[in-house]
Amino acid sequence: MEEMAKLIEDLLNYAEKELYLTAEGRAYARNRLLELLQVEPCNVRGDYPADMQELLERITSYAVASGIVEEENAVKFPDKLIDVVMPSQGEAVRLAQGVHRNDETADSLSFFRDLMKNSRYISPRPSIGWSVGNDIVLIPEEDRREDTGAYPLCSHCIENVGFCGLQGERSQYTRRVLPVELDGEKWYFSFEREPFFPDEFCVACGTHRSSGDGRILPRMMDFIERFPSVFCCTFPEQTEHDRFYGGKKVLPLLQRPVEKKLKEKDGIGIYVTKWDFPALRICGKDKKSVTKIAQSLAKVLRTFEGTPIYIAVSYNDGFVVDLVQAQTPSSVFAPTIGYFPFGLFVLPASTQEDVYRLIQEFTQEKMDFEKIHNDSSLSKYLETVIRLAASYGSHLSSEKAREILLFTIGDACGEEGKKNKKELDYFKKILSEVD
Ligand SMILES: [Zn+2]
Repeated sequence: MEEMAKLIEDLLNYAEKELYLTAEGRAYARNRLLELLQVEPCNVRGDYPADMQELLERITSYAVASGIVEEENAVKFPDKLIDVVMPSQGEAVRLAQGVHRNDETADSLSFFRDLMKNSRYISPRPSIGWSVGNDIVLIPEEDRREDTGAYPLCSHCIENVGFCGLQGERSQYTRRVLPVELDGEKWYFSFEREPFFPDEFCVACGTHRSSGDGRILPRMMDFIERFPSVFCCTFPEQTEHDRFYGGKKVLPLLQRPVEKKLKEKDGIGIYVTKWDFPALRICGKDKKSVTKIAQSLAKVLRTFEGTPIYIAVSYNDGFVVDLVQAQTPSSVFAPTIGYFPFGLFVLPASTQEDVYRLIQEFTQEKMDFEKIHNDSSLSKYLETVIRLAASYGSHLSSEKAREILLFTIGDACGEEGKKNKKELDYFKKILSEVD
């Protein structure tokens, strides 16, 4: 018993240092934990835990062994413990807003990010990552888990905050959201649980309704006006719950210069961006004018060839809207998430295993194409393998084979954009439709 009381104090010490737990909050949280774990109060001092994972596992094992938690719910129990010692949904919002009120330059998003990291809600997936040309390519160790259950209608609905989770799905005990008013409506900001790049987030409508009402751009503009340190974007797919995405301004497209000027008038500039995919950039200081022209251009682009349009919005001494035309890649190295038109290709986790196995094949004295052809996961790469073997031969060192394969994958991703390359006349024609 005393050992459990000590572990509870360790957890409270962590929360005091990392999760804004106050002295009175500590007394309250201790009582909740004593009750939850059915432990008698006793006067014991704790330490700052050296390993939080281990601490949570020890408490969870105790809870399972004592019959407090059923075996099948053990996986959700660590989040339940953290939920007791972290700020409630209401407190989290008050704290985040207070950060901004007390210091105009302070960003409530960075406060919120630290809170969500320390509560272990955000847990980045380990990935192999590298740059090829303009792009960043990532192969995660595991695919991102999506919460697909419908509670009450989908996982983006606000009712999920603090939800114990449907059977077989993750709990939402430690999920916290920031309300933001966008285009006169209430929307909710939350960080992505398993981000592929820093500060990846999603902002979802307060109401469960499908996307495509034509007002997403004004909402994103409102968002970056309030939070200029991040960018936001939308993918063209229709979603059942209206939302947009974003993160730190690290995606390659956002760093790219303009290539050609199409028009500069009344403080609004329209340019062709130096980018693999066809891309238009609209810049200006006046939010309403930039929004209006970007909306008109997006509409023309969509009708022109029926190509899906990806939109990125950022702030850089004025409002910047990037409109990118892109089809979903058809190559064997197809990405799993929609950021590829902005230069981030996230490939299926299975690619990692495939790459290791292909390395093995290239290190053999003689390549066995027949074997690759008959292999259910490697056969899709046969054409690529034959091409590479013709250029580089077999019996390679594993380092060399790895280098060649990663370069080839990156190159295949980069080629996706070039398939749709457009000439300047094309963009001029688009612009003339708007004038
Ligand atoms: Zn929903």
